[in-house]
Amino acid sequence: MTGAPQDPALAWLDKAASLISGHPVNVDEVLGATLAQREEEAERHMFFPTGPVGDFAALRPFQEVLWNNIGSAGSNPPGGNHTKSLERALLEWAANLFDLPADDWWGNATTGGTAGNRAGLLTARDRFPRTPYGMTTAVAYYSAAAHYSVPKMLHELNIPAVRVHTDAYGELDYEHLARSIRPDASAIVTVTAGTTMTEAVDDPRRVHEVLDAAGVPGRYVHCDGALSAIPLALDMELITEGVDSVSLSGYKFLGTPRVCGLVVGRNAASRRSQHVSYIASIDDTPVGSIDGLPIAMMWYTVATHGNEGLRDQAYAARQLASYAENRLNAVGWPAWRHPWAFTVVFPTPPASIQQRWPLATDANGQSHLVCMPRTTKEQVDAFVAEMAEVGWHRASA
Ligand SMILES: *Cc1c(COP(=O)(O)O)cnc(C)c1O
Repeated sequence: MTGAPQDPALAWLDKAASLISGHPVNVDEVLGATLAQREEEAERHMFFPTGPVGDFAALRPFQEVLWNNIGSAGSNPPGGNHTKSLERALLEWAANLFDLPADDWWGNATTGGTAGNRAGLLTARDRFPRTPYGMTTAVAYYSAAAHYSVPKMLHELNIPAVRVHTDAYGELDYEHLARSIRPDASAIVTVTAGTTMTEAVDDPRRVHEVLDAAGVPGRYVHCDGALSAIPLALDMELITEGVDSVSLSGYKFLGTPRVCGLVVGRNAASRRSQHVSYIASIDDTPVGSIDGLPIAMMWYTVATHGNEGLRDQAYAARQLASYAENRLNAVGWPAWRHPWAFTVVFPTPPASIQQRWPLATDANGQSHLVCMPRTTKEQVDAFVAEMAEVGWHRASA
């Protein structure tokens, strides 16, 4: 592993030698450099769906101590140093938001969207028979716009997987899905609510139509809603009919200042779990020990804003995205967005822009800007001003 020459941690490695010979490391300098690196880019960091966060001062006393939410949401590990009651309330809120049956859902707090995808896909695999050699008999399908964690987890879980095309706007190509389906095998389909590049949303109803027509023996639909599941569900725009599980990242729409996530699904009895005497808990989780502080932060965001407040934030963020789209077009950049999206898509700008702004860019020459609830108009204006200076036609000529 190599780092940039100015990497504060590498500078520390040089100094570690002097530590051994008795000269103390300047810890303040190393920590200061790490913070400075963050601050230098913070104003221009609006191309990934995170952002400056809200006020979490109420949780400051929680930061000095260890919280370990090991084990299932339903059980309290011994010792009291957990936020399990907040975890239960948060998961119940999510199950309710995603219309899961009140008496038959499961859920876990996770380390992020990736772990949620793993939990959903593992639950899917456990629903279908295995061959005498232990291989799953199901086949998984995911779109070319699915997050990279989806094929990664299908690989880790040893589930045979088929990659399906998307349309030009990033939504699953249902006709290509129909041509790709193996009618003799149960199907595990991952749909995305908010793809990483264009914030496209796949329609599980159309997936079910394809599966009905193919006559597959069994099915499981997992929704990767890392960014958009919450804001779409708040507007009743998220289709959860026939969706078996939904995962999301807590630090995206909920804006927690710690990386985290959650996953919820229907049909609790079908999930693998074990009683662990040593932690006096049931374990049905995708991880072992998990930090209870980010879980408390997700709960705090929901508890302080309420659905109404979160909906208002989503609305304001979409307004800003619409403003950014219009401004980019007004200065000659052909930008577009899905009507529900925080994400504005435009052709990849030239290197001069890329050097200053930490853009997210794909292999098809597309880049984007993500207007999250905490992105400001000033940030958008600063970016648009530089884009105007470069100009699209000059850039593409
Ligand atoms: C961010 C994201 C993920 C992964 O989430 P992590 O929290 O980074 O693990 C998965 N899917 C989509 C669509 C995402 O946007």
